[in-house]
Amino acid sequence: MNREVLVRAKRIVVKVGTSTITYPNGKTNFSQIDRLARELSDLSNQGKEIILVTSGAIAVGVNRLGLSEKPKTIPGKQAAAAVGQGILMHVYEKLFAEYGQIVAQVLLTKIDAVDRHRYTNSRNTFQALLEQKVIPIVNENDVVALDELKIGDNDNMSALVAGIVDADVDIILSDVAGLYTANPQSNPDAKLLSEVTDITPEIEASAGGVGTKNAVGGMFTKLQAAKTAVSSGINLVIASGQEKNVITRILNGENVGTLFVSKENRLQFRKRWLAFGARIMGKIVVDDGCMYAIHKVGGCSILPAGIIQVEGCFDAGNTISVVDKAGHEIARGLTNYSFEELTQIKGANTSEIENIIGHKHFDEVIHRDNLVIL
Ligand code: GLU
Repeated sequence: MNREVLVRAKRIVVKVGTSTITYPNGKTNFSQIDRLARELSDLSNQGKEIILVTSGAIAVGVNRLGLSEKPKTIPGKQAAAAVGQGILMHVYEKLFAEYGQIVAQVLLTKIDAVDRHRYTNSRNTFQALLEQKVIPIVNENDVVALDELKIGDNDNMSALVAGIVDADVDIILSDVAGLYTANPQSNPDAKLLSEVTDITPEIEASAGGVGTKNAVGGMFTKLQAAKTAVSSGINLVIASGQEKNVITRILNGENVGTLFVSKENRLQFRKRWLAFGARIMGKIVVDDGCMYAIHKVGGCSILPAGIIQVEGCFDAGNTISVVDKAGHEIARGLTNYSFEELTQIKGANTSEIENIIGHKHFDEVIHRDNLVIL
């Protein structure tokens, strides 16, 4: 595939990591932020709609408070984020204003993705901002987000935001130039992949651990983000934030960074929330026949007969993962049966459901309309 799709992209999410906008000593990299503000303003002037997802609140706060390292406690991190987020917005506000742009602070938490009303509501807010040519600047609301309700990293956050606003492309800028065949720091033969059409388990395995000391992400979370984006029908590019005019070059179709090509079918908004917003409460392991049906036939429902194992703690109506025998997640969907019920009816024929659990409201465990294939 050529990169023509990126040239046509109108709504663009750009994510910058802590390592792009701060120096390794934790101080703000003003020239980098200035370049970013200038480039995004220019793209906005060309008629593109820009959403910026920025990390750095904690790192900037840590620096401002004169701490030698990131606090280990949750209140400590939250306090640093509270100090840093204000400073970060102040810098963005000032620099974007230099280039004639209005910006808005949008702080999201996992709840905004998990709760369907809040998910829809955030979409409306973004829509209203973009209509007024405002550039939303998004971060996780680290000050109030409890650990178990955190998205935790802005790579995944950017893909969620891209889904919420129905973006054409999500560009993740980092301190690496893209996805390599191996770790470029330890393997001189590692090659940069220009395009990935299928995020295979091998590709995931090569992604390795987390990045630099101030950052949360690393290639692992970037690949998770790529999976979310491409399954939602959104292209995603990982590129180096240090390269000059890198966003403009990507949007000119130049061969920079790694492009993860979106799957053809754009998920409907509801299905997107289902797959990537809703909290995953458990999982079912399905047999090869069921796998075949899901992949080859496409869009079929999941019946009890194909289920070999059930894990988690969930009720009917919750979102669960569907995994193959090797543990790879292949789909997500809304279950019609609870964990307790599924444990009893797994492997059974549809005609046996009522005998086993005393009722049968549905034939399907997950109906095809409530199933998203990843
Ligand atoms: N939200 C965090 C911050 O602004 C960073 C998360 C990340 O680096 O992905 O400090």
